[in-house]
Amino acid sequence: MTETHTPSVHVEEHRFEAEVDAVLRLVINSLYSNKEIFLRELISNASDALDKLRFRSLTEEGLVPEGTTLGIRIEPDAAKKTLTIADNGVGMTKDELQKNLGTIAKSGTREFLARLEAAQKSDVSQIGQFGVGFYSSFLVADRVEVVSRAAGTSDAWKWTSEGQGAFRLEPATRDEQGTSLTLHLKDAHLDYLRSWEIERLVREYSDYLTWPIELKAEREGAETGAVYKRVNKGTALWQRSPKDVTKEQYEELYKHLSHDWQPPLAYKHFKIEGTTEFSGIVFVPSRAPFDLFSPEAKHGLRLHVKRVFVMEDAEEVLPKWLRFVRGVVDSEDLPLNVSRELLQDSRLSKTIRQQVVKAVLDLLTELAKRKDGEGAEGGAQDGDDYKLFWKTFGPVLKEGLHFEPDQAKKILPLLRYETSTREGLSSLFDVKSRMKEGQKELYYALGESRAQLLGSPHIEGLQKRGIEVVLMTDAVDGWAVQGIEDVDGVKLIDATKASADVGAEEAADASKKESDEGKTKALRDRMRARLQDHVSEVRVSSRLTSSPACLVLPEGGLPPHLERLLRSTQPEAKPPKRILEINPDHPLITGLAALIDKLGAGHENGGAEARIDRYVDLVHAQALLAEGSPPENPAELAKSFAELLTESVARA
Ligand code: ADP
Repeated sequence: MTETHTPSVHVEEHRFEAEVDAVLRLVINSLYSNKEIFLRELISNASDALDKLRFRSLTEEGLVPEGTTLGIRIEPDAAKKTLTIADNGVGMTKDELQKNLGTIAKSGTREFLARLEAAQKSDVSQIGQFGVGFYSSFLVADRVEVVSRAAGTSDAWKWTSEGQGAFRLEPATRDEQGTSLTLHLKDAHLDYLRSWEIERLVREYSDYLTWPIELKAEREGAETGAVYKRVNKGTALWQRSPKDVTKEQYEELYKHLSHDWQPPLAYKHFKIEGTTEFSGIVFVPSRAPFDLFSPEAKHGLRLHVKRVFVMEDAEEVLPKWLRFVRGVVDSEDLPLNVSRELLQDSRLSKTIRQQVVKAVLDLLTELAKRKDGEGAEGGAQDGDDYKLFWKTFGPVLKEGLHFEPDQAKKILPLLRYETSTREGLSSLFDVKSRMKEGQKELYYALGESRAQLLGSPHIEGLQKRGIEVVLMTDAVDGWAVQGIEDVDGVKLIDATKASADVGAEEAADASKKESDEGKTKALRDRMRARLQDHVSEVRVSSRLTSSPACLVLPEGGLPPHLERLLRSTQPEAKPPKRILEINPDHPLITGLAALIDKLGAGHENGGAEARIDRYVDLVHAQALLAEGSPPENPAELAKSFAELLTESVARA
């Protein structure tokens, strides 16, 4: 900071934070052909400032002087080539000017911008979410002056910048609280001084705002005082009847609420009348905010009471598993001075929350039903919008299965998964409709990717019989799936669990099972003893066809990928031991069983015992490898491989 002293003014010069420079560059490059949105952004900020002032004035008496009419004024000055947007809202203190217009407050911005810049993507729809609307003024202006006086104070400050690395702060005067932004327009953009152009922009982008937006008339002749003309209609959009609201108006409201610069993917306008009355609009964005999975990210709807804005991000009316939803609710019954605490215990906010959840799930259900017309096949083909929704927010929605089991029935038809027998995504109902004759249950397998699961021995028996397995590869699936009990009466069970008797229908032949168990008894005893530190049990399996063995989960056991995760983060953790299942028809197993029988019959030959131990270790190690888990002792395993290969090459 450098300070310049002149007899009458005291000007401080500050550098912008590095992020601001980056954002400015991005805004200017990417909005090159869409400059007019600057007015929408500045009016949107002014409206927020008025909302905040009105909210504070509910509890701070005298904050707004008697007789004040709150609103927004737009004042073009052709002679000076300036356009001023003034509000008498909360205003900003000197510190706030410096912080709000000199830094970018959201955490994570730096990393995000670095990525955007590295990708050389001037994609402004991504930066809108950081709250950078103000900087869009530099699209049309080469100098911006902001004079602001915070409500409840008497000092005013002026912030000035050319948008190039630095800004200046100096004391100023202002008659009332609020903020005036004066844009010194570039010569190429003097069109924005024309009344009809300003009126068009306000109607197009800001008509739904309830604060009066007035345009100063170009004065002619004698000074009779400024004349202002109201240019917006100003009834809250959610109060209107949906048939009187255009798609564009909904989209503008969404942009105002969300700071997203892209239109939403879908929206729903709802009104509840009866013992309690409220209305609202929920929006599903078309892309994820960068902090969708950050624990600090705010979520919630914007809450109004009888049209008065009372709270940003009201979490009480929107569950966390719908945190991607943006929107507004307006209650007729909540008190105006409603606080977070009051909302938390309020029966009313629970009712509102319920209706919001219903509106969102109804909206998603409609979206899922919306097909893309021609070429859609059966019921299984989603339209592009639903595909996009699912890809972007599916993992978040799944959290609802776990957190709100009451809603599971409604969430169920919205779920999509990859499966073992088809490319693309299917719903659980699709999979159910394709069940094989005689199949009694639906199967799923948890893992990292479809490719990894398709190679896993656990499901090879099911695959061989053409049974479709639901492949769950999202980090949330492991716990989310526990919220699904059945799909229309058919149980959904984990194919990698010991209790999943996946070969049962085929192995109805009890005598085969008995003889398999008899034939492998000595081998299994031997394996159990050798592997006692690694597995809890060794038993004959009917789920395997081409693999010699696999590891299955005991009740309460961790699926392999979660076990790997646990081991990597908590090496000392001891997850429950798994069960080794062997394939009684595999030549490796039958061969080993025969070898042990031979030894048992007394045909001892030197070194055979040690060799069997090594074979048993290898059977266990390859079961780990087959499911994608690292063997417990890779060096030892590599040595065994080399030795065995040497022997087999020598014999070849
Ligand atoms: P956003 O509005 O998305 O947060 P902006 O860059 O447009 O981001 O504005 C940054 C911050 O500056 C706002 O969050 C607000 O606190 C403050 N601000 C901007 N315009 C005004 C205004 N007219 N009155 C009061 N505060 C304002």
